[in-house]
Amino acid sequence: MKEPSNNATVESISAAPSNFIRTIIDNDNCSGKWNGRVETRFPPEPNGYLHIGHAKSICLNFGIAKDYGGVCHLRFDDTNPEKEAQEYVDAICDNVSWLGFDWGKHLYYSSDYFDQLYEFAEYLITEDKAYVEELSSEEIREYRGTLTNPGKNSPYRNRSSAESLDLFRRMKAGEFPDGKYVLRAKIDMTSPNINMRDPVIYRIRHIHHQRTGDQWCIYPMYDYTHCISDALEKITHSLCTLEFEDHRPLYDWVLDQLTDKLHCHPQQIEFARLNLTYTVMSKRKLIELVSNELVDGWDDPRLSTLAGVRRRGYTPRSIQSFAERIGVSKADSWIDMTVLEDCLREDLNETAPRRIAILEPLKLIIDNYPSDKEEDCFAPNHPQYPDWGKRVIPFSKVLYIEQSDFMEVPSKGYFRLSPGAEVRLRYAFIVKCVDVEKNAQGKVAAIHCIYDPQTKSGTPGAESRKVKGNIHWLSEKYAQKAEIRLYDRLFTDPYPDSGDKDYKKSLNPDSKKIVASYVEQALLDAKPEERFQFERNGYFIADRYDMTATKPVFNRAVTLRDSWGKTAKP
Ligand code: ATP
Ligand code: MG
Repeated sequence: MKEPSNNATVESISAAPSNFIRTIIDNDNCSGKWNGRVETRFPPEPNGYLHIGHAKSICLNFGIAKDYGGVCHLRFDDTNPEKEAQEYVDAICDNVSWLGFDWGKHLYYSSDYFDQLYEFAEYLITEDKAYVEELSSEEIREYRGTLTNPGKNSPYRNRSSAESLDLFRRMKAGEFPDGKYVLRAKIDMTSPNINMRDPVIYRIRHIHHQRTGDQWCIYPMYDYTHCISDALEKITHSLCTLEFEDHRPLYDWVLDQLTDKLHCHPQQIEFARLNLTYTVMSKRKLIELVSNELVDGWDDPRLSTLAGVRRRGYTPRSIQSFAERIGVSKADSWIDMTVLEDCLREDLNETAPRRIAILEPLKLIIDNYPSDKEEDCFAPNHPQYPDWGKRVIPFSKVLYIEQSDFMEVPSKGYFRLSPGAEVRLRYAFIVKCVDVEKNAQGKVAAIHCIYDPQTKSGTPGAESRKVKGNIHWLSEKYAQKAEIRLYDRLFTDPYPDSGDKDYKKSLNPDSKKIVASYVEQALLDAKPEERFQFERNGYFIADRYDMTATKPVFNRAVTLRDSWGKTAKP
């Protein structure tokens, strides 16, 4: 899709859950068209991993079924064995359940219908609605015409039904090589809609299918298979993305020819696909990113794959609320990445316990604090939920703070530590910076402070002295080493693949940074996929695969605020 001329055209977000599809269903329910039945389906082709665009479709289909007391089927559209694999089937099932949806007993495969699809094709031939073509694929293309020129009839269009039937059966029996014949629907070579110019509905492919093995050497085409699968499953509303709008007449044509066989004619309804800034979503490009090792596999936390956003720290709830917030419409538009990120922030702000981590540590020594002394400070697990309790953060002479919380020469408006300046160490004391230690390279190695014993947080009168800065810290003695992966957007361009742009040219070199950090002790017990707010640093998730108590690994899901504009490199 083309990018908008400026950011202002990015779709404004409405929270209204109703949409034109629900209006259609409401009307159908009023008129009794489906006797109150609502049955939808999510029909992925198992030829790659699902991405956040698919999540829009999943939330829509499963969400509608749920709200109307209906069911949503998960159907694998597996008619193209060259590119499909069980690995993708498994991953897709995993993604859909992770998102919180349950297809119950309604798990289907288009390949389950191969027998019926074949039988219907024979029926179409006998009804003179389909014929076996022997023009080559290039010739078929030539005969098809263009948007401005009508097509012309194939010389094989008028072969008798008996002859077509014989050839079709022999195609099935494996008598011919790939490409020798195809079966075409007999519709109208002069139709203004190219999809209606005698589309191919079966082709010969001598190839092993992941489910039907070597049983078939002819495979039905998508447009033929999809509508029949919908009808066999008694789908009521078949929701798909806008690029199928021009295929709808074909969808209806096939079902109209088979009315006596199927007794069901679902309604195809198209909606706009999700376009999200700073990401690419085409399966081909995702495969390219993975196979060229431009990212670390399918579940790289920077990818828009569902496996990726899961590993990044997204919650199913945040993705559902994103899908609700962007709504569905018929107008193609771009959604800004911050909309997705804000959904995660809103969810985790409520649900993530607070913890302390020092991402890039700097040593802070309190000169007037006894070296053998320790005392307890108390940090709330959630500032809005006192009943979540507090935990002990031990205070002592040698601490770690963030490097970014100290500036030797403070810039204007910098209220954290600098020589002579005072800050509050959160949940503890006010300290004043009195000296700076440097290493041989002249880099700041440690800073020295003095503390004011009268200022301990939570003691009477302690808060009367106000300082502008308030920074987090950990005691050197108790801080635990952790690997923290700071992820950022994968692309620097909001529209990395619009027009004829090469998205590989706008990869963000700073999209992944691994830092050797310190975390508080409580985080050693974090379970894989447990999420936290690291105070002042953002929301993080214990890595699904790499987190262990001996080597904790956390991924940054999202920063606390949207800081993209301020940190992005041009
Ligand atoms: P392909 O490039 O292989 O056609 P696809 O993204 O269309 O990829 P499918 O497996 O055919 O993949 O998609 C399954 C369903 O998800 C379809 O109904 C499709 O319309 C929907 N879908 C795919 N991409 C998006 C998107 N960006 N926004 C909303 N729905 C999408
Ligand atoms: Mg598709």
